[in-house]
Amino acid sequence: LTSGLENAWNKLKGEEVLTKENIVEPMKDIRRALLEADVSLPVVRRFVQSVSEEAVGVGLIRGVKPDQQLVKIVRDELVKLMGGEVSELVFGKSSPTVILLAGLQGVGKTTVCAKLANYLKKQGKSCMLVAGDVYRPAAIDQLVILGEQVGVPVYAEGTDVKPSEIARKGLQEAKRQNVDVLIVDTAGRLQIDKGMMDELKDVKKVLNPTEVLLVVDAMTGQEAAALVTTFNVEIGITGAILTKLDGDSRGGAALSVKEVSGKPIKLVGRGERMDDLEPFYPDRMAGRILGMGDVLSFVEKAQEVMRQEDAEDLQKKIMSAKFDFNDFLKQTRAVARMGSMTRVLGMIPGMGKVWGTRFRFCGYVIATEKYGLCAASVSVRLLTLEASNGYGIHNQTEEREKPELLAESAVRRKRIAQESGKTEQQVSQLVAQLFQMRVRMKNLMGAMEGGSIPALSN
Ligand code: GDP
Ligand code: MG
Repeated sequence: LTSGLENAWNKLKGEEVLTKENIVEPMKDIRRALLEADVSLPVVRRFVQSVSEEAVGVGLIRGVKPDQQLVKIVRDELVKLMGGEVSELVFGKSSPTVILLAGLQGVGKTTVCAKLANYLKKQGKSCMLVAGDVYRPAAIDQLVILGEQVGVPVYAEGTDVKPSEIARKGLQEAKRQNVDVLIVDTAGRLQIDKGMMDELKDVKKVLNPTEVLLVVDAMTGQEAAALVTTFNVEIGITGAILTKLDGDSRGGAALSVKEVSGKPIKLVGRGERMDDLEPFYPDRMAGRILGMGDVLSFVEKAQEVMRQEDAEDLQKKIMSAKFDFNDFLKQTRAVARMGSMTRVLGMIPGMGKVWGTRFRFCGYVIATEKYGLCAASVSVRLLTLEASNGYGIHNQTEEREKPELLAESAVRRKRIAQESGKTEQQVSQLVAQLFQMRVRMKNLMGAMEGGSIPALSN
């Protein structure tokens, strides 16, 4: 979507104002980009129409180039399309607040149960989970294990009890234990069928939930929006949770759900880890779709895991080009805690492009991720690369702080190569990469301060 939209902006370079005529071609690019992102056709039509109307109407704003103006209009319309504001979870007046989760098989319902409990726990709410998927014993076990992992009790029965009965007993138990929020997992099917819908209706009747959230897989694109509509008509839902956003680069689902179904996306899942669940911010999503990077999300995440002093210290070092191997390691550690390295770096504006080709060291992480290892364990490996098979930078205190020493002395590089069992060429490469990284990070920080991003937010 991003690159498709870039074509649109490029066509306006050199123009003075936005006119009915000169937006024709860029609008075609936008239309194409949205369709390729699997946004549903009626949504695309309405979107293009309202952007065109806005664009021709805005007139000339001093100091703002037409392409920038169009970016701004598209951004605002994207935000509107996705519902504008964050749609918060609603809590009932009396405890427990019941949240019923529904959705097809494999979309991430059971995972969301535990993630959501984890998320609410952090806000000081006590939670309980109910294992309402009784068709496979494995589904119950899965929820029990996840519940344990996040430290939340799970109410479960055998596979011979009806889901509505389990829901009823679970609710009783939640009342008895006086928990704030009861989250109920349900069974999914591969496709919508009457049995599933009837069962959900029964469970819903018993629970009288405050929230009925449909969990949908972002990778299914506009299909996700169609599902939200169907479930809403059939059982009545209050919103959607979009999962697997980490695997979806197109954005079609995020863009279509609200407009097609009238129901907001309340939360999004971006990975398999228990803390990979966050509110859905239409403005940030719009920023990401436009390829401006999700600076806010990144900053928030980064703050969570990187202590403030560390971050400031790092910034100073970057600005003065003193970024050394110690920082490199520290950062890798922080990134490991944040989740996937590719994802986190993808959130930094401009990093997406820099990324693949230059950062070999990081490339190593991506390559390994592809082989199914999670970023965390890879980073731990990076950190614990022993002298025997790593680059030995853990052992070389002096050289760790002053990579210049390694740049200047072939003898030192040779020694490290010997100690770490790498070739001299590999060590040279690592050193070169660190210096490249310094330059790039410095440029990047410069770019961030240069105001190209603030110009877009209002
Ligand atoms: P359910 O059948 O709807 O209960 O789905 P599960 O919760 O069992 O999840 C199915 C698979 O999707 C599991 O392997 C999860 O780890 C994975 N999954 C769930 N949410 C996400 C997400 O946000 N991102 C990624 N990458 N995987 C996810
Ligand atoms: Mg499940």
